[in-house]
Amino acid sequence: MRSALATDSDLLNAIEDRGYRITSTRRVIAGAIEESPDGFTAEQICGRVPGVGRATVYRAIKLFHEVEVICKMALPDGAPRYAVDTGGRHHHHTICTGCGAVQDFRASTIERVLKAIEADVDGQITGHRMEIYVTCQTCLASAD
Ligand SMILES: [Zn+2]
Ligand SMILES: [Zn+2]
Ligand SMILES: [Zn+2]
Repeated sequence: MRSALATDSDLLNAIEDRGYRITSTRRVIAGAIEESPDGFTAEQICGRVPGVGRATVYRAIKLFHEVEVICKMALPDGAPRYAVDTGGRHHHHTICTGCGAVQDFRASTIERVLKAIEADVDGQITGHRMEIYVTCQTCLASAD
């Protein structure tokens, strides 16, 4: 049973399912995240939720990441960027180095190659991550 605060937000449902409370602040932050289909930085979310403290925004983003409803990745300079996790299945991302737009992709070939490498790696592989940096179609078009 959902509480009276039941919501159709996947982000809020996910934290509630893990026993966290849906607060009005978390609701506002989740709304800002869900309005960012191309990914976001913590600072961008801070800018969209006036009146909510930065530390609160950062903690909420960390929480959403912990419950695996948002993906965390890094730009080439290491700056963290996030995107709503669209499926939950193992996937990778392309990130536009111009505007930061994030897209998911899956490639069974990559997974097979990484599996094949496992035999040559010292120790047990526990996971991997991969980001492919691109110039997105929008940025390509605006460069013309
Ligand atoms: Zn993702
Ligand atoms: Zn772009
Ligand atoms: Zn993979």
